[in-house]
Amino acid sequence: TIVLGIESSCDETGVGLVRLDGDGRLELLADEVASSVEQHARFGGVVPEVASRAHLEAMVPTMRRAFEVAGLKLSDVDAIAVTSGPGLAGALLVGVSAAKAYALSLGVPLYGANHLAGHVAADTLEHGPLPSPCLALLVSGGHSQLLRVDDLATRITEIGSTIDDAAGEAYDKVARVLGLPYPGGPPIDRAARRGNPRAIAFPRGLTGPRDAEYDFSFSGLKTAVARWVEARERDGEEVPLDDVAASFQEAVADVLTAKAVRAAERFDIGTMVVSGGVAANSRIKALAAERCAAAGITLRVPKPRLCTDNGAMVAALGAHLVAAGVEPSSLDLSATPGLPVSTVSV
Ligand code: ATP
Ligand code: MG
Ligand code: FE
Repeated sequence: TIVLGIESSCDETGVGLVRLDGDGRLELLADEVASSVEQHARFGGVVPEVASRAHLEAMVPTMRRAFEVAGLKLSDVDAIAVTSGPGLAGALLVGVSAAKAYALSLGVPLYGANHLAGHVAADTLEHGPLPSPCLALLVSGGHSQLLRVDDLATRITEIGSTIDDAAGEAYDKVARVLGLPYPGGPPIDRAARRGNPRAIAFPRGLTGPRDAEYDFSFSGLKTAVARWVEARERDGEEVPLDDVAASFQEAVADVLTAKAVRAAERFDIGTMVVSGGVAANSRIKALAAERCAAAGITLRVPKPRLCTDNGAMVAALGAHLVAAGVEPSSLDLSATPGLPVSTVSV
């Protein structure tokens, strides 16, 4: 069974092709991504209208490249999955419209797929089927959540989430404060490797005795970094960029991994998946590995290419939907910008 996956929720136009075999295994055949990130860089964040237009221009060429790489024809496709939410309305619509057109003309089933569940599904392309249950730490540009995944295709429950900024958003905002380019994750990750993570004691949000145990807060941390940097500049002192980056990153990695491990222990879950764009972070991965090993939890983190937005993860989720016998979507499928993670397919 060949599943085509289409992603256009934010600023990446992604087309993936996956083969699902009889025993539920997935084989990645193509994963083509066109990003409009450079067009947004000077604004320090994604500009929705610019992203939509870029998707329109990139969709067909990206589709062609994917089929070329896989050595497949359109007529080889057995099912189509498309991100129908959450994301930017105009951006999502480009992918959803394309997917509907292909599904209608090819006469194959169409699945409206949840982008966040797709981030988790990405891991199955690299490490095989997920055991049930498993705990997912989903950390991306727009979300930071702890999820209990009983079945990737049908049963995902939110255990906790950020009450303000997402982890990726905090990286992007702190990068701006430090004069680093957008998106901020990769340059902060690099600077942090040269700095001292214990140089500055930045606050760990929501870790007090009365705070929600499995929720996150990154807005106070972002403000603390900005205040610290401003105070330095006001005093005419040089800002130790590498130390600020390392100390900020340590605060993020500490809270994320501590709460994730605590949740896994509390709910007696033996496997943890960390996914989403921020899972590409070297320190989060290292600290998660350390703490999971200490707690006897099996850790799975997909490679960075599969962590950030792509079409292969949507194809992977589509394959799980097909394998689970989930009802396909109707051809009046639309975009759902606020789709909750518990709705895996619509
Ligand atoms: P969502 O998935 O919530 O809709 P999104 O799709 O925009 O949001 P992703 O593409 O999954 O988000 O992730 C992008 C985010 O990942 C950006 O905020 C970026 O700064 C961050 N990021 C990428 N690489 C790293 C890294 N090495 N360390 C930390 N953050 C990173
Ligand atoms: Mg992106
Ligand atoms: Fe994403």
